[in-house]
Amino acid sequence: MTSEKTDAIVIRQVDFSESSRVVTFFSRDFGKFAALAKGAKRLRGPFDAALDLLSCCRVVFIRKSAGTLNLLTEARLNSRFRPASGELLRVYGGYYVAELLDGLTEDFDVAPSLYDLALSTLNFLSDPKTHLPSILIQFEVQFLREIGLLPNLSACSVCGDDIHLDHKYAHWVTQGGLLCSRCRHEEYSGNSVQAGTIQTLREISECDTGVFVDGQISGSQLIECHRLAVSSIVQAMGRKPSTLRYLQIQ
Ligand SMILES: [Zn+2]
Repeated sequence: MTSEKTDAIVIRQVDFSESSRVVTFFSRDFGKFAALAKGAKRLRGPFDAALDLLSCCRVVFIRKSAGTLNLLTEARLNSRFRPASGELLRVYGGYYVAELLDGLTEDFDVAPSLYDLALSTLNFLSDPKTHLPSILIQFEVQFLREIGLLPNLSACSVCGDDIHLDHKYAHWVTQGGLLCSRCRHEEYSGNSVQAGTIQTLREISECDTGVFVDGQISGSQLIECHRLAVSSIVQAMGRKPSTLRYLQIQ
């Protein structure tokens, strides 16, 4: 048993007993992990308000062997996720970040860049001057890139020919790639993708994590980028993220 320290975002909470909760964190140094927070439900519990959903905190926990719950011993609030009042869509945007981190990462799979992406996305969501759909699409694309599930945007998945932005392509969801018109047959169901969308996806995926791209994306490309990212997310999760129904991106 070792005591570990890290910065972490609270991505899920489940009641465990009358006074305790199991809290799932996404941390900078250990990836995702769950820990028992004894007394977390008490009014003046040992963790104060550090464990609100999407709060970022400095935590200390005792790491147990696989199959046994880790134990949270300290949690100190670094920052709270607090979008401007009345901005419910931004709150749901934060829940979406948490749902993807929870659903598409493995316990103790260390990914500091994913942590940085999540934290900067929460910060963008908290700033009322930012464009909500652009933030979410940037998060989706860079998230897929970080977990290795972003479709290959430079070559056809079947023939391997380079992608030319003056040709027509489709997104082949099950193979996680693009198909040129010569390779697009009935058996490969796929949605058409505009060249401008491929270009936009490339630009977002080549950006550093958390660098906010805004003002460049036209309405129809926003929708297509989002549709393509969601198809890849659904394919990986085996279901549609439940928070998506509150986030009508258009
Ligand atoms: Zn091809």
